[in-house]
Amino acid sequence: MASRPDCLFCKLVREGGHVNAAGGFVAIEDINPKAPVHLLVLPERHVDTFRDVSEFESDEAKAMLEFVADTAKRAGLEDYQLIVNVGPGAGQTVFHLHWHVLGGGRPFE
Ligand code: AMP
Ligand code: ZN
Repeated sequence: MASRPDCLFCKLVREGGHVNAAGGFVAIEDINPKAPVHLLVLPERHVDTFRDVSEFESDEAKAMLEFVADTAKRAGLEDYQLIVNVGPGAGQTVFHLHWHVLGGGRPFE
């Protein structure tokens, strides 16, 4: 699905200045970090939620996982936590699929 004018993360994808970008994915810093390193990985194209992961072709899904791992590595993280909140009942507040990458040496909150 194309960029949505009313979606915050589509807007951040368009604005650029990402900490990592490749192959249709970008990483940004979370505005309200819950750990010393707290990044968000987003597909450039709009997908509402991980529940819709079947919208990705298999090579694209693999590329997304590799981009998550590459983003953590470039951030200097060896050990880290990945979180995907799926749906409002699980804490999803922005309805553009994203992976939280949390790390940096203190217990996660
Ligand atoms: P979730 O609750 O899983 O949907 O995660 C949404 C995340 O987006 C939260 O961790 C917010 O802190 C983060 N966030 C909200 N607005 C912005 C923004 N303008 N730039 C970067 N991160 C944001
Ligand atoms: Zn979006």
